Amino acid sequence: MRYISTRGGMAPQSFSDILLGGLAPDGGLVVPEQYPQIDEATLARWRALSYPELAFEIVSLFATDISAADLKAIVDKTYTKEIFGSDDITPLKTLEPGLHILELSNGPTLAFKDVAMQLLGNLFEYVLEKRGEQINIVGATSGDTGSAAEYAMRGKHRVNVFMLSPHGKMSPFQRAQMYSLQDANIYNIAVKGMFDDAQDMVKAVNNDAAFKARYKIGAVNSINWGRIVAQVVYYFKAYFAVSEKNGDAVSFVVPSGNFGNVCAGHIARQMGLPIKQLIVATNENDVLDEFFRTGVYKVRGEAQATSSPSMDISKASNLERFVFDLVGRDSGRLAELWHQVDQAGGFDLSGAQCFGDVGGKYGFASGRSSHADRLTTIRQAKAAYGVTIDPHTADGMKVALEVRDDSAPVVVLETALPAKFEDTIVEALGEKPVRPAFADELERLPQRVEEMDADVTQLKRFIADHIA
Ligand SMILES: *Cc1c(COP(=O)(O)O)cnc(C)c1O
Repeated sequence: MRYISTRGGMAPQSFSDILLGGLAPDGGLVVPEQYPQIDEATLARWRALSYPELAFEIVSLFATDISAADLKAIVDKTYTKEIFGSDDITPLKTLEPGLHILELSNGPTLAFKDVAMQLLGNLFEYVLEKRGEQINIVGATSGDTGSAAEYAMRGKHRVNVFMLSPHGKMSPFQRAQMYSLQDANIYNIAVKGMFDDAQDMVKAVNNDAAFKARYKIGAVNSINWGRIVAQVVYYFKAYFAVSEKNGDAVSFVVPSGNFGNVCAGHIARQMGLPIKQLIVATNENDVLDEFFRTGVYKVRGEAQATSSPSMDISKASNLERFVFDLVGRDSGRLAELWHQVDQAGGFDLSGAQCFGDVGGKYGFASGRSSHADRLTTIRQAKAAYGVTIDPHTADGMKVALEVRDDSAPVVVLETALPAKFEDTIVEALGEKPVRPAFADELERLPQRVEEMDADVTQLKRFIADHIA
């Protein structure tokens, strides 16, 4: 399996070549030359597999330059009961006939990003060791991504993480999650400013090509291909858990921001998994809902801060991967569309013939949720099913209840545990959510964090001083 750029300007490369990189050199996203096709016999065999067995089968198809024995060892040490709380890794909870929640948030940071990031940490370490290289990950976070990356990379050889977060802007729980890590290769930097200031510093470091090369600066953001591949696995797992036999229709509702999670669903469907619909749920930041309803993709100036903060985006980076397929993998056309995004803030496919395929051939639909919807849905889920769901999962549940019919069971992807978003749960239910036992004393642990002005020179000096 080799990888190309959506914009056509990259010679085909192997999985290990593209794993550590971000954007393709031409500014596009990397995608496989074609999606592996799963025949019925294989699907039948996979139905009986455990999570790590299934993960091995699926990742093998994409990471063809890693030996089977090595990949098996990597997958087996990633998907364990110790890390994810159960042998199922992603258990399915049935709320009522035809309505299910796929639990994706039982990893160390209580959000779905752990499922992919934990594998990525082990893949990074393996590839760097093979190549005798090292990487210094520099990122900015307002919450989930940064913590998932730190928990995946902590203690890993040949990897350092410098994670910037806005000083005093995250919840006490989120701060404690990150700042309590004492691993020598993890550096938390609290920037005296807003998230955007932190992100601008990261951009400035990446724009300094000489510094970037000298200090081996890398990233683990949502466009990383390894993360997408790891997420494909749980769509298969959930399909087998919900359907009685292969061929049965199953739909998924996915709380979405950067389109990473649902992009993996699209790939599973392209591989031949009989998914009926992929339903994209957004919050008030509804760039994606607008695109799937109208064909107009319009980047917002600034994301609006909401009570499902991990979906607060102004543009959806991974959408480029889907649109590449939608335009028939025509990289010239794709490059032209993203040129329009850069020049004019978006594009309009409403009149294009291919837009008809969005709902038809590709099975996409969408919906949107507001703060008031979120509160109502959290209450509804508690009253009707006795479960407390987090605000992001509530966005998904709201859309699921709206769109479902009798033609296929619906699986709502749970993207975080309510414990991470105490304030909104208290607002909805008047009581605090329960916390997993291991996170009970989190805020009382000693914290390790460097405070810094929003100053790139200081950041560069700090990085240079802290790597060998
Ligand atoms: C990251 C995240 C999302 C959005 O996922 P995308 O892959 O960016 O679409 C939704 N919910 C939670 C809790 C998240 O952390």
